[in-house]
Amino acid sequence: MSDKFFQVAIDGPAASGKSTVARLLAGRIGGYYINTGDMYRTLAWTALSRGINPERDPDGVVAMLSSCDVHYRIVDGKPLLHRNGEPVPQAAIRAPEVSGVVSQVARIPALRDWMLEKQRECRSLGIIIMEGRDIGTVIFPDAKFKFFVTASPMERARRRFAQKGEVPEGATVESVAADIARRDEIDSNRPVAPLKPAADAEIIQTDGYTAEEVTELLAKKILSERV
Ligand code: C5P
Repeated sequence: MSDKFFQVAIDGPAASGKSTVARLLAGRIGGYYINTGDMYRTLAWTALSRGINPERDPDGVVAMLSSCDVHYRIVDGKPLLHRNGEPVPQAAIRAPEVSGVVSQVARIPALRDWMLEKQRECRSLGIIIMEGRDIGTVIFPDAKFKFFVTASPMERARRRFAQKGEVPEGATVESVAADIARRDEIDSNRPVAPLKPAADAEIIQTDGYTAEEVTELLAKKILSERV
């Protein structure tokens, strides 16, 4: 594409398949994939490992930020999330214990302020495909493309259930659905940057479609507007 700097915002609820689509899309159109959920998960993981309970002690989480540098660095041509200079292990931040508290971390207003510039500065990379909850509404309200990727609650629970290592021992599809619903409830009702589609976002309902099909749909929309 001749446009070298623009943002594609992909927002949506938990387990909607937006990460897979955003990653595939980055490869398809030639852009950098940034997962902002992983940034919040890294802070939740750090809080837990330092014995801070995010629900009872949000001030403790905010105090932790001064000793916590979280940002994407380009490694072998791809953005890789680092904390204090070390790559962040995916298995650690996707563990059920982290998923269980991450929304409590992400609802802290001072922490979201801290995150805002870190996420915005990613635009200097070039073409970025950034996924999260508030990318089209708050982080990049002027993004060239905005999609809100969603699926029915049962479909999302089935997708998450299939991701072993991300659900607790003994989980059922129903218990996974309940965990997702609880997280969506907190994400949608927080006072700062709640989960919601931007007014100018295109809603992509993905029930019955594969990630590849959804990616192709978005890629066609983007590439058809190439300048
Ligand atoms: O995308 P993922 O489900 O991994 O995100 C984990 C959590 O991080 C979300 O449930 C939400 O609480 C928080 N989040 C957020 N804003 C974003 C991305 C994620 O509040 N832009």
